[in-house]
Amino acid sequence: MPIATVNPADGKTLRTFDPLSDEEIERRLAAADAAFRTYRTTGFEERARLLNAAADKLEREADDIARTMTTEMGKPLAAAKAEAAKCVKAMRWYAAHAERLLADERPDEDDVRDSGAESAKVHYRPLGPVLAVMPWNFPLWQVVRFAAPALMAGNVGLLKHASNVPQTALYLEDLFRSAGFPEGCFQTLLVPSGAIEGILRDDRVVAATLTGSEPAGRSVASIAGDEIKPTVLELGGSDPYLVMPSADVDAAARTAVTARVQNNGQSCIAAKRFIVHEDVYEEFAGKFTDGMRALRVGDPMEDSTDVGPLSSEQGRADLEELVDDALRKGAEPLCGAQRPEGFDHGWYYAPTVLTDVTDTMRIHREEAFGPVATLYRVPDLDAAVELANDTPFGLSSNLWTHDESDVERCVRDLEAGGVFVNGMTASHPALPFGGVKRSGYGRELAAEGIRAFCNVTTVWRG
Ligand code: NAP
Repeated sequence: MPIATVNPADGKTLRTFDPLSDEEIERRLAAADAAFRTYRTTGFEERARLLNAAADKLEREADDIARTMTTEMGKPLAAAKAEAAKCVKAMRWYAAHAERLLADERPDEDDVRDSGAESAKVHYRPLGPVLAVMPWNFPLWQVVRFAAPALMAGNVGLLKHASNVPQTALYLEDLFRSAGFPEGCFQTLLVPSGAIEGILRDDRVVAATLTGSEPAGRSVASIAGDEIKPTVLELGGSDPYLVMPSADVDAAARTAVTARVQNNGQSCIAAKRFIVHEDVYEEFAGKFTDGMRALRVGDPMEDSTDVGPLSSEQGRADLEELVDDALRKGAEPLCGAQRPEGFDHGWYYAPTVLTDVTDTMRIHREEAFGPVATLYRVPDLDAAVELANDTPFGLSSNLWTHDESDVERCVRDLEAGGVFVNGMTASHPALPFGGVKRSGYGRELAAEGIRAFCNVTTVWRG
């Protein structure tokens, strides 16, 4: 994949970039190593000052970087601005809370009485340069979600961003540098994915985090495993969206539309499989399909656009293959299932709802990364939970109900890293984020996220 900005709204290549040479990669690894040796000794106050400066700068520049993101990957401009604002909040949150999250801990007095460990403490120390392999879909947020806690913990970052968002990737390096972080603390490596193995095997790189697809996660985790380096993996999802008879069906259908098409349908935590109790199925299906049909597909720079293009021609081709496979095997489209009319350029796809989906269809088990929903009718909650779990993924899940026993059952039994009741999945800096099964392992955000790349050190004084 060339490292280039190609506008998904018209397919035009706007800028291309040469990948770093081996010598340039070596210079950056050396800079990261050198930066870590001194940056690790800075205090929380100093790190917070720098991170707040980066947040202030991002806040001032939000409109510009939002336009860059929209140009590079096609998300509606309003969503890009909201993404920048979310990053500002997360940076300020970690600047304010990192010291508390990483404060020394003592064991419970009763547990260590008369053991000699009464004065023992646990320290959270930084690990070193961490490689972050990141996707294009939230090109600012995915990186900040890693960088803010990593930098507050005293680590330094090396970013290998997706090849189609190089300008956003370079902006991030510039953001941290010009906010005052010492040289080498956060660097962007414009390299193809083939260069990752060499970087990850380098002794100066101590850990990796990857957000992206399952094959990419498997590759990075195997290399890191071979090198005995810790990893966090945030991979794909095919989140279920359960609607039970006591639900507010109107609200469930309205939110379902947003939950499915946010970010032009290219979100790991988008609801993708809509599993509806037969008592409310017809009402939900009608309202949901009306909502999907009413969406305005168009130029992502326009305020009136709800759904822009997919990020790449390949991304649209992959989605079309999934839908075509389902149609060939008997799925029925309630809307969409084709390219929208009136677009002879750009990688657009119409918001789509499919019914009569069976387990012989690829879309039943694979992630649909675009504005395509599958709709299932179930007789009861048992069937809903069984279907919800019938997927290799386990990122998040959504439940619409006013029956507390439904909630208890789903919190106990849904195989996912989140259960969102009467709302759509979201992330917040104070709450852990991540999945189970093929959606990955480890958690980002909250205390779990900042501790993921710490050397948890027991200090025992005799
Ligand atoms: P992707 O193709 O896996 O790319 C993600 C990153 O991995 C890019 O930097 C890419 O570099 C690199 N990469 C690709 N193949 C690789 C390999 N074999 N070894 C090492 N690195 C490799 O994924 P994407 O298309 O950008 O993103 C979509 C996927 O990300 C979806 O499955 C989505 O659900 C998932 N995602 C998950 C989360 C989460 O938090 N769980 C959040 C967002 C997205 P190149 O661009 O140079 O190929």
